[in-house]
Amino acid sequence: MLDNDFSPVVEADKAHVWHHLFQHKALESRDPRIIVEGKGLSVWDQNGREFLDAVSGGVWTVNVGYGRESIADAVREQLVKMNYFAGAAGSVPGALFAEKLISKMPGMSRVYYTNSGSEANEKAFKMVRQIAHKRFGGKKRKILFRERDYHGTTIAALSAGGQPERNAQYGPFAPGFVEVPHCLEYRAQWDLTGEAYGQRAADAIEEVILREGPDTVGALCLEPVTAGGGVITPPPGYWERVQEICRKHDVLLHIDEVVCGLGRTGTWFGYQNYGIEPDFVTMAKGVASGYAAIACCVTSERVFDLFKTDASDPLDHFRDISTFGGCTAGPAAAIENMRIIEDEGLLDNTLAMGARLLDNLNALSEKHAAVGDVRGKGLFCGVELVADRGDRTPLDEKTVAAVVAECDRNGVIIGMTNRSLPGLNNTLCLSPALTVSAEQIDRISDTIDAALTTVLG
Ligand code: PLP
Repeated sequence: MLDNDFSPVVEADKAHVWHHLFQHKALESRDPRIIVEGKGLSVWDQNGREFLDAVSGGVWTVNVGYGRESIADAVREQLVKMNYFAGAAGSVPGALFAEKLISKMPGMSRVYYTNSGSEANEKAFKMVRQIAHKRFGGKKRKILFRERDYHGTTIAALSAGGQPERNAQYGPFAPGFVEVPHCLEYRAQWDLTGEAYGQRAADAIEEVILREGPDTVGALCLEPVTAGGGVITPPPGYWERVQEICRKHDVLLHIDEVVCGLGRTGTWFGYQNYGIEPDFVTMAKGVASGYAAIACCVTSERVFDLFKTDASDPLDHFRDISTFGGCTAGPAAAIENMRIIEDEGLLDNTLAMGARLLDNLNALSEKHAAVGDVRGKGLFCGVELVADRGDRTPLDEKTVAAVVAECDRNGVIIGMTNRSLPGLNNTLCLSPALTVSAEQIDRISDTIDAALTTVLG
């Protein structure tokens, strides 16, 4: 493959592909990067250059690494037998993956298949609205979301989006979505620390519920660890209080595990680090590590029960479908993906290598004044860069991008929050595959160390 001449591919891409999150003017002076092969954590571009991928496919997806033949085999075997059937019929891998998934999610019970993280979230939003109509005369239908969280790219998902820079120019948005404050202690909104800060940030959610009226608020949708909004790990005490508040006001708790799901934080799901009992859990990226497109909205039995109350009423079920929710490649790949995570002990590796990465990154803060805050859970880490440690002025986007580019030049692909968008985009993001070794972890942090020295002195 690497011996091929990729120039026709490059020309075809330049002529016809509209790239994600990208200003195409840049391609007037250079070629696009085409990733042509991957193995483990390595990827090769069209020129045969090898990179160590520290972001699992750019957006935290390829949890078990590249080149997994057993996943390809499982998908092939399934596709030649039965590739697709949609609607009310089930499928063999659909049933078996649901059973395997639920076995890792005590308290949850039903898996609703769909295509993308955005869509999985929209399914949960629709369920919340329908529950409001079924139980509360349509009133308890508002959905709370948090500043800096992201739940997807469709209009309703953007309506629940806490990153204004992603929303600019795409309004008007759907009504009924209300923002609550973020919980990042480094950008403190209250003069408190530790557990007191966590509880205060959670109390801010209750203040919004009380302001809006508890009889109008149906659900609270949160990322367990905010991803693209800054790799925000919750302060201690936050989640316990959030759970209490939801129970007190009969607000359903929707956890968006699109990034944290399937091992990223060292537990099967991010929420399991915090003892949360959710009503909805949505997931996508790591479910099949990008080997096939699959996403799901998982609900508790309590939620599912609300949708089978009156068989004589034709409207009294979840009247929703996803065409490609009937593809079998996704669950076939997902079963094998979970087997790999289990059999190779990848949750343990995530905890061990995540701790090593965090230690290495913390060591950088002793050496580089630009390292303002280091955060992380498992193999999901962020380094917030500042121009001034005293007043915590964020480092400007161009300089942060130069650090990312310098790492790239040295063969390590890292990410940054909301690249190409103005706003809180001063955090380096790291999320290598869960198979990462100690040597690879050290190479990632050494490369960042060198890049900070080159760019900032
Ligand atoms: N939720 C979170 C937390 C995400 O980070 C993303 C995408 O990055 C989504 C939802 C949307 O997922 P998708 O791009 O599959 O629609």
